Amino acid sequence: MKWKRVAGVTGVVVMVWAGLTSAQVQAAPSEDPCVSEDSVVQTRGGREPDLGQVAQDLPAAAKGKAKPGFRATVPVYFHVISDGAIGALTAAQIQTQMNVLNNTFAGGEGGARTGFRFTLAGVTRTDNATWFYAGAGGTPEHEMKLALHTGGPGALNLYSTTAGEGLLGWAYLPDIVTKPGQAYLDGVVFDWESIPGTTTKYAGTYDQGETATHEVGHWLNLEHTFFGGCNAKGDFVDDTPAEKTPTSGCPAGKDTCKAPGLDPIHNYMDYSYDSCYTQFTPGQSQRMADAWLFYRA
Ligand SMILES: [Zn+2]
Repeated sequence: MKWKRVAGVTGVVVMVWAGLTSAQVQAAPSEDPCVSEDSVVQTRGGREPDLGQVAQDLPAAAKGKAKPGFRATVPVYFHVISDGAIGALTAAQIQTQMNVLNNTFAGGEGGARTGFRFTLAGVTRTDNATWFYAGAGGTPEHEMKLALHTGGPGALNLYSTTAGEGLLGWAYLPDIVTKPGQAYLDGVVFDWESIPGTTTKYAGTYDQGETATHEVGHWLNLEHTFFGGCNAKGDFVDDTPAEKTPTSGCPAGKDTCKAPGLDPIHNYMDYSYDSCYTQFTPGQSQRMADAWLFYRA
């Protein structure tokens, strides 16, 4: 599959489903003259669609609420969708994905220990080709989630599908749970072939199960490290160096902003290859924990 990159558009994050919510588009100020106020339609380097949701700083009262030693155990409802021929993950593959989530959120590759643990609370299996090939924001996604979504704001619903043509996955930021009638959309849809041991589609690129790590980062309110480009506010996290463009592959020494620090190519919230990913930062860990307490606990 060919990955497409749309040039000159960076900026606003994830999503609002246009059919349900009027998007209050609030582009991050940026040094990049190519970024316009209404650049909601954002490239994901081929990895994600744009759902138009507005990324924002947490309210001041919510910041810093999570104290050192923060812990949260997240029940996971794992919805396996298949099309009659492919997609039917084995129990071992599901467990492998759970292990990757737990390892990456525990700092197992050298990053911050976030305090989040994930436990498998349930598995559903649905053979439905329409859902299996569903893109973001359309009727099939809504039907699938209305039928399968389980639990409240603190439950993580994972849907393994094809994630639509040419995409790796998508997630809604946690303020989706505050929108009347939309909470069922909360969760992560991701490509079943990004799970280790499935196929060779992403061999050497997105094959270590860390697409789910990236998407769960969004689910816990993280933005991309390149969000806001070189703007000081950037991704609302202080210890991720500013970055103008999404990373592809693992280009050592990439440095796209004048601000101190090389681009955070090893960060789970960039677009690098899985083999390049090693970390969340302490600042991202704090933002996730604060967002958990604010939206999900
Ligand atoms: Zn993303």
